[in-house]
Amino acid sequence: MLQDLIPKKQVARVLELLMRSKKVAIVCHMTPDGDALGSSLCLWHLLRAVGKTATVVTPDCAPSNLMFLPGADSVVAASCHQERARYLFNGADLIFCLDFNDLKRIDRAAALVGGSNAPIVVIDHHLNPSIDAEVLISHPEKSSTSALVYHLICQLGLEEYVTRESAECCCMGMMTDTGNFSYNSNDPDLYVILSRIVAKGVDKDALYAKLFNTNSLSRLRIMGYSQYAKMEVMPDHHCAVITLSREELDMFGYRKGDTESLVNVPLSIPGVVYSIYLREDAADYVKVSMRSKGDFSVKSLCETYFGGGGHLNAAGGEFAGSLSDALDTVLRIIPQCDGLVAQASDK
Ligand code: 5GP
Ligand code: MN
Repeated sequence: MLQDLIPKKQVARVLELLMRSKKVAIVCHMTPDGDALGSSLCLWHLLRAVGKTATVVTPDCAPSNLMFLPGADSVVAASCHQERARYLFNGADLIFCLDFNDLKRIDRAAALVGGSNAPIVVIDHHLNPSIDAEVLISHPEKSSTSALVYHLICQLGLEEYVTRESAECCCMGMMTDTGNFSYNSNDPDLYVILSRIVAKGVDKDALYAKLFNTNSLSRLRIMGYSQYAKMEVMPDHHCAVITLSREELDMFGYRKGDTESLVNVPLSIPGVVYSIYLREDAADYVKVSMRSKGDFSVKSLCETYFGGGGHLNAAGGEFAGSLSDALDTVLRIIPQCDGLVAQASDK
């Protein structure tokens, strides 16, 4: 049995909003990952199956390795199709915000969502949601937004409308946010959902092969180079840092998504509690990614120093400046974390 996770009042309100809506817009966070795109497309397929007109809008383009998902070619990227995105949000009578907790996470699309009169339903698993929503379904204890969407579909009594395509999108989100059920994955509900999804005809093994066992040549080379030449492990600080400059990324023909999961790699070294990856996206802009094990919060680090956020063990942020300045900042912060790392390890 799948537990009734979402309060009945919220489910009833979503049902009411759905009944009277005709055009639905679904938006997820920028640089969409498997859960953002998977949860959005899962809901999109479902809404189409019950006769709604729905569109998924992403703030920017999805990485090419996720484009195999059924429905991905119907997604509108606001960065390329600004006017179409504006038209969709203006015309929508219901907006779903999936897998983000703050309108800052959808970049310039925030103004379009803010400018619409449509009620907003948020479904998310990040801490401290700050979106002003008609219905806020926020469950940071859950490992993926995709699983939350499935809970909602079941509680709405619409599970029979879940097609194989919809189920496949949900499965992808659950798999990517748990590293194929290898972390944040001790929740029995996950496996109840998974069994129902597989029963819908999803080939989970084929999905695994596409997601975790498919690499471009540029990705393999850049992953090897980063681990061989660019990974600095600081055993005394229980930390590892990887930096990649624009020049290095270009040298390998870097494409969006090519360094996905690189930041996780150093955590496999016993004694490394947290890992930091700095990627120079432009001369004055560095993307920051962090991962940790146990109770040490990289979310706090990203919030405090890099205007970002995320989860306890997986977070990100930004640095406005050069890569060497970003690295200097990180090297200044690391010794200051020694106490917190020791505290977290003692628990
Ligand atoms: P990643 O390291 O894979 O880019 O992101 C890991 C987690 O941190 C994701 O859950 C994502 O939502 C969050 N995150 C990444 N970058 C940012 C950011 O710039 N701002 C905030 N608030 N969260 C971020
Ligand atoms: Mn997610």
